[in-house]
Amino acid sequence: MPLEAAKGVSLTARGEGVLPQHPLKLFEKMVASSPYDGEIMRFSGTFDVGDRSEVVSKKRLDMVVRDALEFFESWSPREVEKERAGHRPTSADDAPLIGAIPRHDGLYVATGHGTLGVTLGPVTAALVARELSTGKAEALLWPFRPNRFRLVF
Ligand SMILES: Cc1cc2nc3c(=O)[nH]c(=O)nc-3n(C[C@H](O)[C@H](O)[C@H](O)COP(=O)(O)OP(=O)(O)OC[C@H]3O[C@@H](n4cnc5c(N)ncnc54)[C@H](O)[C@@H]3O)c2cc1C
Repeated sequence: MPLEAAKGVSLTARGEGVLPQHPLKLFEKMVASSPYDGEIMRFSGTFDVGDRSEVVSKKRLDMVVRDALEFFESWSPREVEKERAGHRPTSADDAPLIGAIPRHDGLYVATGHGTLGVTLGPVTAALVARELSTGKAEALLWPFRPNRFRLVF
């Protein structure tokens, strides 16, 4: 399938200073910032194409933190809680791949949600569960069928 892993990294840290009260996407730098518990912040970024490992690249993580901190003059990290790397599986047209795989009986995929897998996972799961349990095709899933691409197996 035309799918890229698109690796991302994040840093979760306790810090000092003033935190925003809700998540912010720092678009100029393509970094997401998520404050929680009053003193913890998570910065996440990068979309590294071609890297399928789950190793945290210190260089890439440092870049994300440096970029994010340009927006938070009044907050600074004091104690790192977690450094993490993960993937944002993304299709060639940036829309999810949801449905049966032709010529492979019983194989059904729901992936390719890119940067929004946590947000979109629940609605995808609800539609897929209904489609598979009733055997009735969900109209809402038509734009996302894997066979919109020429699959090579
Ligand atoms: C740093 C970071 C921050 C993010 N922040 C957000 C956010 O704020 N909001 C949001 O909506 N989304 C966010 N995302 C995106 C979200 O995490 C992904 O879209 C989502 O995890 C994709 O889910 P998935 O199940 O398709 O793939 P994955 O979560 O990558 O799961 C794929 C699974 O398949 C396994 N696998 C791979 N190959 C094989 C194989 N050959 N055989 C068996 N198993 C295999 C892998 O080990 C993995 O467990 C973020 C991602 C990253 C990396």
